[in-house]
Amino acid sequence: MKVIDIINQSNKTVFSFELLPPLKGNDTSRIYQTIENLVEYDPKYINLTTHRDETEYREMPNGSIVKRIVRKRPGTVAIAAAIQHRYNIPVVPHILCGGFTKSETEHVLIDLHFLEIENVLALRGDGVKNQHVFTPEAEGHTYASDLVKQIVSLKYGNYLEEDLKNNTPLDFCIGVAGYPEKHFEAPNMELDLLYLKRKVEAGAEYVVTQMFFDNRFYYDFVKKCREMGITIPIIPGIKPINLKNQLTVLPKIFHIDLPTELSQELAKCRNNEDARLVGTEWAIMQSKDLVANNVPSIHIYTYGISDNVKDIVKAVF
Ligand code: FAD
Repeated sequence: MKVIDIINQSNKTVFSFELLPPLKGNDTSRIYQTIENLVEYDPKYINLTTHRDETEYREMPNGSIVKRIVRKRPGTVAIAAAIQHRYNIPVVPHILCGGFTKSETEHVLIDLHFLEIENVLALRGDGVKNQHVFTPEAEGHTYASDLVKQIVSLKYGNYLEEDLKNNTPLDFCIGVAGYPEKHFEAPNMELDLLYLKRKVEAGAEYVVTQMFFDNRFYYDFVKKCREMGITIPIIPGIKPINLKNQLTVLPKIFHIDLPTELSQELAKCRNNEDARLVGTEWAIMQSKDLVANNVPSIHIYTYGISDNVKDIVKAVF
């Protein structure tokens, strides 16, 4: 089932959670354990992140530096399909511009169609480590809006090879990312919203937000989107804090603010267990308020940890 149909057919807020594919070398047991911990609370769909190749530099015993290309979490398509078929819950694999050519993207979309997956979240991805600006592949997309256009053209059976005729249309429901506190590269919120609107005009059917810890950012963002003529559902992203160092790590990585009250509480924590309790309570408080304000769905960033997510969905849904 498509995410947009799930949302439109539900008369209350639903929830989904985001999982990372297993690290290379690991099996599927941990990811299945996470899902099994949450499945009784009726998640309506599950997101699966995608991770591009990374460049690593290693110093060898003779002092030379060797460059290696590694993909730490391969297998998004396979694990997404395995989850959908095992639990009968729709999955939403993430599709990236970064690290992929248009042709590779088309092949991924064909695979997803064969595997009966109907949803994707279309993202640009970040630049590779130590790269100040995002650089697309030579035959890749520069912005998520271009990726959305490619996915939409397959809806009409238009593949990259123009001479292919009588093609099967590939019909995906497409979500895109939005940033209540602005994407870090955007010069200002107005331009960022204009580019979000381009993704919507290209064919995105809903937006999932970056994590935020003060719901006022989300409400303000939705208001601004509506004023810009962006009318599609905007799904809030909630990240339950579970480690003390996330007090400084999250703002650094995701370019978001932590409210004073939350940061003061985290600063007082003696260890990760204390931080997990504070983070869980905060996420419950945020989620209850979002549900009371009739948001269509809540997207929970799990990072593979499910105990805190279980506490949240138990308290909220
Ligand atoms: P875009 O929409 O392309 O925007 C990127 C920047 O370019 C913005 O600053 C925007 O304002 C600007 N821009 C857009 N269009 C134009 C234009 N035409 N001209 C000039 N500027 C423009 N990353 C991963 O690697 N894997 C994942 O699985 C993943 N999942 C995510 C899930 C969610 C819900 C979110 C919110 C983010 C996720 N990310 C993931 C991170 C995401 O890839 C990064 O935030 C990335 O930097 C931006 O992606 P985007 O799709 O928003 O890009």
